[in-house]
Amino acid sequence: MRSFRYSRPETLEEASALLEEYGTDARVLAGGTDLMVRLRRGHVLPRIVIDLKRVSSLHSGIVDAGACLRVGALTLMSQIIEDERMQRHFPALVEAARVVGSVQIRNRATLAGNICNASPAADTAPPLLVFEAVVNLVSKAGRRAVPVAEFFTGPGRTVLERGEIVESIDLPLPPRPSGAAFGRVTRRYGVDLATINLCCLVTASGEARLAYGAAGPRPFLVRDDSGLLTNSDGDPGAWDSVLRRLLEQASPISDVRGSRDYRQAMLLVMSRRALRTAIERMRSEGKDS
Ligand SMILES: Cc1cc2nc3c(=O)[nH]c(=O)nc-3n(C[C@H](O)[C@H](O)[C@H](O)COP(=O)(O)OP(=O)(O)OC[C@H]3O[C@@H](n4cnc5c(N)ncnc54)[C@H](O)[C@@H]3O)c2cc1C
Repeated sequence: MRSFRYSRPETLEEASALLEEYGTDARVLAGGTDLMVRLRRGHVLPRIVIDLKRVSSLHSGIVDAGACLRVGALTLMSQIIEDERMQRHFPALVEAARVVGSVQIRNRATLAGNICNASPAADTAPPLLVFEAVVNLVSKAGRRAVPVAEFFTGPGRTVLERGEIVESIDLPLPPRPSGAAFGRVTRRYGVDLATINLCCLVTASGEARLAYGAAGPRPFLVRDDSGLLTNSDGDPGAWDSVLRRLLEQASPISDVRGSRDYRQAMLLVMSRRALRTAIERMRSEGKDS
């Protein structure tokens, strides 16, 4: 591993100034579960690593912010899993956080780090897409908010500009009743990324949102508001024809985790399963309310 300067700023201003100064030669470190691997393998060769863990304003945790829950940048997967409000409003995100790596990884890995790493297979990306999360960015120049659907630009690439840090992620409370479910195919739990992953959300107004990972260069969201996908009592053939149309956007690759054909077949199978679970959840939420 090539040597680099290691800095632990205590304020956002200090962190932003360092990022501005070093530009593309700087790397931000949160939990380090992705970055350390990339540093050791020499995939990134920064002149400075800026550890955010002492920046107290990024340790805000999960805060009620009116119509949304705001997740601070240093919030861990384990905090998301344990939070009662997350379990109530965003069970599909909790399901995704639960499958990220092992207990040790989940106690280190942040939600923000998962999206900034921008792996096409990032497990939290599909739920963040269906819940229409908004990523709040900060830099010396000011703040801006980016819908997560616009955040990913390619494998390992995001809209983050020079000097920008993710400060928090907003999760708008979903309409009620609604139901969401996460699904994933993987070779080995705890040590391997998803072969494919997905999340769907259905609402009582007949809208279905589906988001997919490891099915193209970046996680993506598709929608259908015909009402066909929110009704599990209808014609299964009609479901498949809508799903096949939506999945035209998928362009999975063949790699060590699975072939393109296997991925394409599983996208359809897993979409059906996740939709059924989401519809059941919406129905039981409807009974409770
Ligand atoms: C053994 C193992 C198993 C894993 N299993 C899974 C899995 O099952 N599913 C999965 O999705 N991932 C998995 N991962 C990947 C990783 O754990 C997650 O992506 C994790 O959420 C990254 O968060 P982090 O805080 O560790 O990020 P870091 O490693 O600290 O950072 C990751 C990237 O994001 C940038 N970054 C971090 N925070 C910010 C910020 N606030 N603003 C701007 N940029 C930022 C960093 O510069 C870096 O480029 C695994 C990793 C390992 C080592």
